[in-house]
Amino acid sequence: MERERTFHTPTDYQQAMLHAWAQYATLKGGENASYIPYLAQVPAHLCAVAIVTVDGEVFSTGDADYRFALESISKVCTLALALEDVGANDVQEKIGADPTGLPFNSVIALELHQGKPLSPLVNAGAMSAVSLINARDSEHRWARILNMQQRLAGAAVTLSDEVNRSEQTTNFHNRAIAWLLYSAGTLYCDAMEACEVYTRQCSTLVNTVELATLGATLAAAGVNPRTKEQVLSAANTPFILAEMTMEGMYGSSGDWAYTVGLPAKSGVGGGIVAVVPGVMGIAAFSPPLDAAGNSVRGQKLVASIAHQLGHNLYRCG
Ligand code: GLN
Repeated sequence: MERERTFHTPTDYQQAMLHAWAQYATLKGGENASYIPYLAQVPAHLCAVAIVTVDGEVFSTGDADYRFALESISKVCTLALALEDVGANDVQEKIGADPTGLPFNSVIALELHQGKPLSPLVNAGAMSAVSLINARDSEHRWARILNMQQRLAGAAVTLSDEVNRSEQTTNFHNRAIAWLLYSAGTLYCDAMEACEVYTRQCSTLVNTVELATLGATLAAAGVNPRTKEQVLSAANTPFILAEMTMEGMYGSSGDWAYTVGLPAKSGVGGGIVAVVPGVMGIAAFSPPLDAAGNSVRGQKLVASIAHQLGHNLYRCG
């Protein structure tokens, strides 16, 4: 049976977005991440949602210009670069493509799998992905990762010294993970270089429209619909979307697949981006998080838009 394709007008997108906004923009619940001092003090009332289609149409509302820390969503960009550099087989063999079923910074997950991270979208796997990037030295590694973030999302994505300082001076748990990986042979550069560059990649600032653009670039098989640049090969985007489905929402990735049915990625800065392949990226931002580390309002906003427009990858008719 051929999958029925639903075509929507700009008014449909706008209405779906505004309806979701009216329902969920002031939803209570959740708390800012507090283990990174910077994130604890971001105003919790800030909220935004944006849609970018594969044709480059943009819809947004709320604090859509506010720049927030990319955090874990950066793992998607570094995964893209690792896939381009070393290929899908190496990424699967060296990092993995399975959910851990455990929190994103779990040490137990590593112990259970002989140091294999299982997913590039948890902290361990992301540091391993950083270490797989082709680079001469740490600055070159960082420059290539930042460049990939900018090409996927928008040229204005830059490192925040304030966020970076806040993270680099408190990232002891991630340093421990890096050394565990190194001792297991699953980190492919200097351990502290991988951790330091990983921490920087989490400390860049994006706004919600840029985040939706990142999603739209994946939805458009690697072509950024706003710059028209082929940022990564079309052949690599399915691997990214599969990894997002498996682990993009951490311990609630299964619940997300069950209820929403779209690949997505969240970050402890309050950002979340979902991909409707061939159609659009949907992004939201709101700092208070649930126990799994996903934005409470952000999840509702994105899920509502996808649902209203009838997008769920597992729906057959
Ligand atoms: N920088 C954060 C960390 O390493 C990112 C985690 C996240 O967004 N889930 O803990």
